[in-house]
Amino acid sequence: MAKWHTGIVVDNMRWNDRLTTLRFEAPLGEFESGQFVRVGLEIDGEIVARPYSLVNTPDESVLEIYFNIVPEGPLSPRLFELKCGDKLLVAEQTAGFFTASEVPESNNLWMLATGTAIGPHLSILKGEAVWKKFDQITLCYSVRTHDELAYTDTITQIADQHNDAFCFIPVVTRESHMDSLRERIPQSIQNGSLEYRANTPLSASDSHVMICGSNDMITDVTAVLESRGMHKHRRREPGHYTTEKYH
Ligand SMILES: Cc1cc2nc3c(=O)[nH]c(=O)nc-3n(C[C@H](O)[C@H](O)[C@H](O)COP(=O)(O)OP(=O)(O)OC[C@H]3O[C@@H](n4cnc5c(N)ncnc54)[C@H](O)[C@@H]3O)c2cc1C
Repeated sequence: MAKWHTGIVVDNMRWNDRLTTLRFEAPLGEFESGQFVRVGLEIDGEIVARPYSLVNTPDESVLEIYFNIVPEGPLSPRLFELKCGDKLLVAEQTAGFFTASEVPESNNLWMLATGTAIGPHLSILKGEAVWKKFDQITLCYSVRTHDELAYTDTITQIADQHNDAFCFIPVVTRESHMDSLRERIPQSIQNGSLEYRANTPLSASDSHVMICGSNDMITDVTAVLESRGMHKHRRREPGHYTTEKYH
């Protein structure tokens, strides 16, 4: 049986009418950047809970999740409505292997995210461990419209701290937006535009790829990586990419 703590919402910072960052206080055991925690509410006498990646680092005491409303879903529309002082349920323990420590050493780390899946990447990038492990880190963050490009201030701070070791590539697929790429991540890998933009090779010999997002996106990206001789990373069988599927 999962053990639940009561959390208290300290901030519900909406980016628009579909996307929000919920910040709350709750006791949580040790965790690693990139992991997720189950968050829930009691609905009609039953606990309804879902996993959410933590955006905060282990050093930051306020917990933070970033999510979108799934209109037909039982939990996300209700979490979206929470206000400062409201209570929610937070699982005692975090879980997940989408962490810098699980990823094998290589020169280049590619971090690919669509939509709210930027969250675990930011937690990892705000920490120090990943910068000791890789020479060059490229974050590619794909959304449909530019108003979905959340956390750009955080990304700018990361860029300022790490200068040439970091490359940020925003992708806005449904409209032209400043210097963003406009094609989906799988295509931009396939035709070389992502590597060209990053000025970094993406190959089995010197790269690891962390991919977080929907099943469709992960399937399409990993098919392109496999065609380049890259394979899924497993503890017992080291490979070239690591995935976290949200839905
Ligand atoms: C390991 C893990 C970590 C996750 N972390 C996050 C996170 O940090 N942020 C986040 O937004 N979501 C995250 N999710 C998805 C999240 O757990 C919920 O599924 C989502 O918030 C919808 O919850 P719901 O109860 O309203 O609907 P659900 O009953 O969970 O889902 C209803 C339907 O919507 C689909 N769906 C689920 N999530 C989404 C989505 N984001 N966009 C579109 N369709 C979706 C489901 O496949 C299902 O068909 C994560 C999922 C997993 C497995």
